[in-house]
Amino acid sequence: MNKNKVIVKIKGINFGSSKEVGIIAGPCAVESYEQLKTAAIAVKKAGVKILRASAYKPRTSPSDFQGLGKSGIDILAEVGRELKLATETEIVDTRDVKYAADKIDILRVGARNMQNFELLKEMNKVDNTIILKNGLSSNYKEFTAASSYLLENGKENVILCYRGIRTFENHTRFSSDMLAFSSLNELTNQPIIFDPSHPAGRVDFVLPISKSAISAGANGLIVETHPNPKNALSDSAQQIPSNEFSSFIKQLKPIAKANKKILV
Ligand code: PEP
Ligand code: MN
Repeated sequence: MNKNKVIVKIKGINFGSSKEVGIIAGPCAVESYEQLKTAAIAVKKAGVKILRASAYKPRTSPSDFQGLGKSGIDILAEVGRELKLATETEIVDTRDVKYAADKIDILRVGARNMQNFELLKEMNKVDNTIILKNGLSSNYKEFTAASSYLLENGKENVILCYRGIRTFENHTRFSSDMLAFSSLNELTNQPIIFDPSHPAGRVDFVLPISKSAISAGANGLIVETHPNPKNALSDSAQQIPSNEFSSFIKQLKPIAKANKKILV
């Protein structure tokens, strides 16, 4: 137990509270208004209050879908407003921080940018809550050191998100250490959430690793869900179909309860 744990409050959810598991969910990427709205309706129906979707996509290959950019930010803001959901999206470029900060509630630094220090410095300047993901091959000291850039000048609303690392094991997309939460709680006071989707890399592995992370002490989950994963423009294999999303959330509730927490 970390007695000095910081609570980051957003949309009535207390990230970092020992009694709550905060859920953020939505598609990997914003693909269109219709796609995001359909995903968001299912997210809301499952009782989730924060909608994720990326408009800027750092892709391994330049021929892969790069995201809708500013128009994706506009769509996310619009859908969030219509459904009264808080919004969350990734920023990859210092030049886009201000535009997104004005329209979106939570901004994320993705794994590939954990040590993009100029981006971290720019993100430190905005009032929005920031989620920082660990780098693909970073250790916990490097992860928390990177988070210090975001915490400069008294900024407190910073959440760390553990999303697994690259190891020699390649049966899963990334390896996720279930001692990440115990370890990171010794190095930081910030809330620590978990991304089950990217380490799983496939939809049937998302539930078991989500259950494990809740029991291991994650303060929340950020999960990918898409109305039609087969046709998704990114991360097709790992997104939970929208029509199965409520059932996914329902199966996590008893796990949270067994750990004396509630899903929010
Ligand atoms: C994402 O969450 O959309 C993402 C790209 O994840 P990561 O940065 O962890 O690879
Ligand atoms: Mn993704």
